[in-house]
Amino acid sequence: MQVETFGVIGAGQMGGGIAQVAAVNGMQVILHDISTEFVERGMAAITKNLRRSAEKGKITDSEVQGILDRITPSTDMTRMKSADFVVEAASENEEIKFKIFSRLDEVCPPHAILSSNTSSIPIGRIASRTRRPDKIIGMHFMNPVPVMKLVEVIRALSTSDETYRTTVELAEKMGKTPAVASDFPGFIANRILLPMINEAIFCLFQGVGSKESIDTVMKLGMNHPMGPLALADLIGLDTCLAILTTLHQGFGDPKYRPCPLLRQYVETGWLGRKTGRGFYQY
Ligand code: NAD
Repeated sequence: MQVETFGVIGAGQMGGGIAQVAAVNGMQVILHDISTEFVERGMAAITKNLRRSAEKGKITDSEVQGILDRITPSTDMTRMKSADFVVEAASENEEIKFKIFSRLDEVCPPHAILSSNTSSIPIGRIASRTRRPDKIIGMHFMNPVPVMKLVEVIRALSTSDETYRTTVELAEKMGKTPAVASDFPGFIANRILLPMINEAIFCLFQGVGSKESIDTVMKLGMNHPMGPLALADLIGLDTCLAILTTLHQGFGDPKYRPCPLLRQYVETGWLGRKTGRGFYQY
C-alpha cells in the first residue's frame, strides 16, 4: 500500500518528531492533539528543529516552508478520515490508548493501518479493542526521532503479513532501520533499557553514587553516549515509570519493580527535560 496521508496522534516530543520525519520524506501529515495549545507547541518544536537544520546548511529555507506546509495541525479526530496510516504517540497510558484506537477505528478508512508508538504496552491488547486487529501494529520510534535510526516493529498475533510489510517499507521510506520484535511487554528496547535505568535510580536512591558519578561511569566506562539518569530525563520520568509498571505487571517479576525515588519524582511533577527538572535541572 502507498502511504500518502500520514496521521500522528499526540504532538509531544515523539509525535512531533515522527510528524517532522514523515513530512521531510514527502508525506502529507495530520498532527493531532487534544488542544490547540499542545498542537501549537508541537508545531513550534518542529519549526525550531527545521530552522536549526537550515542554519547548518542541511536544508534550504524554502524546503523548511515546504515541509511545514505538508503538516496540518488538528484537534478534530475526524480529520483522520483521510489517513492511510496512523501512528499513535499519545501519553503512555493504556486507557488513553484504548480510547484513541476505538475512535480511530471508527473514523479512519477501512484500508488504514493503525500503529502505536507505545514503549511497552502489548499491541495485541490494543488490537483487541478495534474491529481491524489485522491492521494494528507497533511502530516504536526512538528519541529524538529525526536523529535515531531504529524503528522497532512489533507484530501482534493478529497482525497480518501485509500490515507488517507496509510498516517495514514505511520505516525504510522514512530513512529508518526496522527491527522486528514479538509482542511482549516492553518488546526488546525497553525490556533491556528500563531495568538498567531503574538500577541507576536505585544506585542514586541507596547512595551508591551521585548522579554525576553514575552517569560518568556509564558514559566513560561503558561508552554510552549519555548516562542513564540523563537519558531517563530525556525519555520523561513519567514515561519511564509507566514502562516499568507495564513490565512489572506484565511479567509479575519483582525485578521490574520501579524504584521508589522514581515514583516520588513523578508524583512531585519532576518529569525530566519536558518540565525543566528531573534528576538534573534544565
Ligand atoms: P509527551 O508527554 O511528550 O507527549 C504526549 C502527547 O500526547 C501530549 O502532547 C499529550 O497532550 C498528548 N495526548 C494525551 N492524550 C491524548 C489524546 N487522548 N489524544 C491526543 N493526544 C493526546 O510523551 P512522548 O515522550 O512524546 O511519548 C509519547 C508516546 O511515545 C508514549 O507512548 C511513549 O511511551 C512513547 N515513546 C516515548 C519515547 C521517549 O523517549 N519519550 C520513546 C519512544 C516511545
